[in-house]
Amino acid sequence: MNSSPVDASASVLLPTYARAPVAFVRGQGAWAETESGQRYLDFGAGIAVNALGHAHPHLVAALTEQASRIWHTSNLYTMPDGEKLARRLCEATFAARVFFTNSGAEANECAIKMARKHHAAKGEPERFRIITFEGAFHGRTLATIAAGGQQKYIDGFGPKVDGFDQVAFGDHDALKAAITPETAGIMIEPIQGEGGLRSVPFQCLRGLRELCDERGLMLIFDEIQTGVGRTGKFFAHEFCGVTPDIMSIAKGIGGGFPMGACLATEDAAAGMTLGSHGTTFGGNPLAMAVGNAVLDIVLAEGFIAHVARMGLRLRQSLAELKDRHPEVIEEIRGEGLMLGLKLRTPNTDFVAEARAQGLLVVAAGDNVVRLLPPLIIGDAEVAEAVARLGGAARAVEAALARPAAE
Ligand SMILES: *Cc1c(COP(=O)(O)O)cnc(C)c1O
Repeated sequence: MNSSPVDASASVLLPTYARAPVAFVRGQGAWAETESGQRYLDFGAGIAVNALGHAHPHLVAALTEQASRIWHTSNLYTMPDGEKLARRLCEATFAARVFFTNSGAEANECAIKMARKHHAAKGEPERFRIITFEGAFHGRTLATIAAGGQQKYIDGFGPKVDGFDQVAFGDHDALKAAITPETAGIMIEPIQGEGGLRSVPFQCLRGLRELCDERGLMLIFDEIQTGVGRTGKFFAHEFCGVTPDIMSIAKGIGGGFPMGACLATEDAAAGMTLGSHGTTFGGNPLAMAVGNAVLDIVLAEGFIAHVARMGLRLRQSLAELKDRHPEVIEEIRGEGLMLGLKLRTPNTDFVAEARAQGLLVVAAGDNVVRLLPPLIIGDAEVAEAVARLGGAARAVEAALARPAAE
């Protein structure tokens, strides 16, 4: 006898998300489709995850080929594809060491632990504090909510994990004042994603590098959202010409397969010795097959230049859209194909109107709507998205024009 207390028609998932009433069952490139065949132009890409769009043939082939051979072996054994992917990431970046994870938050956990251990291994275990920036988002684990510093994510979950000091975005004096003999490092997103597409000026990133060098601090870039070609560079920090000591990546590197990584210089990683960190699933053969396949495409000649070109085209069209709808759109933000519309009207209403136009976009903090299309889009998708955004802006304007009582 079934004595389950659940209502058969209600969701039994934790109600932690305000889910839109639409379910996608298949996709192709920049398009996602419902069971009934309604097609949506996907400019959210699963929150900057589906870097190559839906059902990319090279990723499908890599995953299915791997799935028919072996799925999981654990980190107790040598991982040839993991060694290969780590080496490719190092060859394309500042890094000399890689640790694979299943998510962005775990990549940041590794980054935080590594920064602390770096100092501990050098005989300075009192240096464990990390400076972060207001508006940051670093994940939802206990340590990363403390790092992000957003009260609404911290409240009710017990004592906030110690060791994070937050300073105002762009306040150089506050930053310098926050550095103490206990500071281990500084952690920053080159462009805040969840926080509303706020870009850190290049000279500030260079200033952070100098400050970290002067004070012996680990500079940690959270490129979980900005990385893997999203901004029109392989990693966003390439715009400013300086490199971090530690970098977390996730989202785009798996093309939709859950994976992340923490990259570091040899010196930064020096404390991460045998047994000091671990993961059961991280770097498993399925993830490594897909990660390598993503790099085959993203690092191919001309691909990142294509992202930059599409980003510019989209940005120009968005600027025209802003001129046509000044009561709705206040500002265009971001870089490459990580663009945001800072709105004058509520961003969640705009996201719903865009969905009604068959366009998927993502809300962010600071009343921003994010456009995070797959990096494979072409001119036709850009034009189609802008037309649908125009439709959404007109719908929002029409609602503004109606008397409030209606
Ligand atoms: C998404 C994101 C995270 C968290 O990644 P999860 O995979 O959700 O744990 C951390 N930092 C940034 C900048 C992100 O965009």
